[in-house]
Amino acid sequence: MVREFYRESKLSKTRPYWNEEIETMPRERLERIQLQKLKEQVQRAYEKSPFYRELYQKAGVRPEDIRSLEDIRKLPFVDKASAQDAYPFGMLVCKLAKIRELHSATTPSRQFLPVYATEKDLSEWAERCARVLWMVGLRPGDSLQNAFRFGLSTGGFGFHYGAMEAGMVSIPASTGGTDRQIDLIVDLGVTAVAMMPSYGFYLAMRAHERGIDLARDGDLKVGLFGAEPTSPQMKDRLGELMGLTAYGEYGMNEFLGPGMACHCTHKKGMHTWADHFLVECVDPDSGEAVPEGIPGELVWTWLSAEGTAMIRFRSHDISSVTWGKCPCERTHPRISRIAGRTDGALSIGGYIVYPSKLQDVIGLFPEVGGFHVILDSVKGLDCMTIRAQLRGGAGMDAERLALGIRSAIRSYVVVTPRVEVVPPGTLGTEDGEPRFRIIDYRRGSGRYGVRTE
Ligand SMILES: [Zn+2]
Repeated sequence: MVREFYRESKLSKTRPYWNEEIETMPRERLERIQLQKLKEQVQRAYEKSPFYRELYQKAGVRPEDIRSLEDIRKLPFVDKASAQDAYPFGMLVCKLAKIRELHSATTPSRQFLPVYATEKDLSEWAERCARVLWMVGLRPGDSLQNAFRFGLSTGGFGFHYGAMEAGMVSIPASTGGTDRQIDLIVDLGVTAVAMMPSYGFYLAMRAHERGIDLARDGDLKVGLFGAEPTSPQMKDRLGELMGLTAYGEYGMNEFLGPGMACHCTHKKGMHTWADHFLVECVDPDSGEAVPEGIPGELVWTWLSAEGTAMIRFRSHDISSVTWGKCPCERTHPRISRIAGRTDGALSIGGYIVYPSKLQDVIGLFPEVGGFHVILDSVKGLDCMTIRAQLRGGAGMDAERLALGIRSAIRSYVVVTPRVEVVPPGTLGTEDGEPRFRIIDYRRGSGRYGVRTE
């Protein structure tokens, strides 16, 4: 039913919308589409996924119990921890032969949670990202330098597909190679970038060291920044340094990342595409819905997915949802800036890192009596240091131990830390068993502080 709207996606460059009919559709019609898709998705999950069938049977709920959008509240939540029980095929809801691309999210105990995408999923991902790029003013003839990572995570590919769908030039620069990135921006007259904000700061600073002022020497006009918390002030500063307007974008690997939500040019919250996603905002403790505009935890349902079922997935992201009218005339609901997380997970260099996972990995080293995690921002990039304290009397090659810890954390947590091995008693306790602490010196988003687990 909705597919016919997508055929009109090749719009004139001067039109403000990529897909006007969908993007400005009245809420009632959007909600009718949402309900129809929700029913189909719950039915498909129940039939095709033993994981969901068991979950729903335990809760005493059947697909035919979904008769209104509010009925979604009858369905139990899913989160990263429960999703890992479904590994490897539990979330798959179509034949494996239909899958064209596989990506991965992480869970507290696994670094791999497969996300299966069919040809239809990939095409709709491109459409959603094309809408995002169009919404922030980019058009055919613009070029997008995409410095999100290309790999199993979904970061890079979404905007790559979206830029091509929107008739733009996609430059899949991926992460790193900062001098080359600067040269590309200046020499090719690149007009837009997509990257993590911390990398934006680093890139601008490195350019400055080379005598290059991106605001003066480049042609940038738009920056899409996401994957880590950023305050409006930091976005404004990025805009000044790079000579562009900075927009926030939001996505999760479990839902094929970028293209879930993004600012429009009015920057009054990030529009999320209601024909593909149903976003709820709940009290993180009770799980009950909170009123529109009130902060709570975002819970997402992927309405249009063909390969992977993601129904009532708890994001642990704190935000709020409003359907209120936006000056851009788009009718899709908006989420506010992500104000924090409910599960204590840390965002380090764009990766979600669970303190419990760090404890598990360090627990593999019996020589270590306790450790601190120190997070800092060095030249705009997140930096994690593990300060591990030797147990009393352990005669150990500290350098070798540090290398072992570094390697294990890189393997199991993805982020590569600095590791310092310190003698017993160094971390402030006499019994050699210091408590696990997280010391976060990074600026922004209220995450500065010390937390003891
Ligand atoms: Zn808007």
